[in-house]
Amino acid sequence: MSINKNIGLELDLEKIEELVKLREDKNIEFRAFLKGQDPDKIDETVQRINIEISSQIDCTTCGNCCMKLKPFITEQDIKILSQRLNLSQQQVMDDYIEIDEGDQYFKNLPCSFLKEKKCTVYNDRPEDCRSFPHMHKRNFISRLWGVIENYSICPIVFNVFERLKTELNYI
Ligand code: SF4
Ligand code: SF4
Repeated sequence: MSINKNIGLELDLEKIEELVKLREDKNIEFRAFLKGQDPDKIDETVQRINIEISSQIDCTTCGNCCMKLKPFITEQDIKILSQRLNLSQQQVMDDYIEIDEGDQYFKNLPCSFLKEKKCTVYNDRPEDCRSFPHMHKRNFISRLWGVIENYSICPIVFNVFERLKTELNYI
C-alpha cells in the first residue's frame, strides 16, 4: 500500500508518478497562484513544513534522486572526491564527470556511488547532493519550475508541495 498511514505521507514512488500525471494541470495552476503570494511568508511556511516532513522520511530507503538526477559538480567536490577515492583529480574527471554546456555533472545514472539505495561516499558527497531537494532554501516562489520537476522524483518535495496546498486552502 502506498500511503504511510502512521504519518499520512505518500512515499510510494510509483503512486507518486501516477499522481503527478493526474495533478499536472492543477500544479501549473497552483504555481500561478503562488506567484501572487507574499514570497517571505511562503518561504517561512515551506521551510516549516519541510522540517516536519523531511524528519519523517528516511532517504536511505529511497535513493530516487541518485537514480534519476545528475548532481552539479564543483572543483571543490572533485578535490574532496579525489581524496576520498584516492584518485587524481584528473582520474575523477575521466571516470565520473561529464561536461554539459560548460558545467560539470556526474555522468552515470544511477550514480556510480549509489549502492543498495545508500551513498557510499556520504560524508564526502558533492554540495549539490547535500543541498537536495533544496526545500530549505529561500526564494521558493522563484524556483517553482525546479520544484515541480523534483515533485515527481522526490517524496519530500511531493509531500511538502501537497501540504502547502492544504495549508493555503488551495483545493
Ligand atoms: S554522490 Fe551520493 S548522494 Fe550524490 S548522487 Fe551519488 S549516491 Fe547520491
Ligand atoms: S532527497 Fe528525496 S528523492 Fe532523494 S533519497 Fe531523499 S526522499 Fe528520496
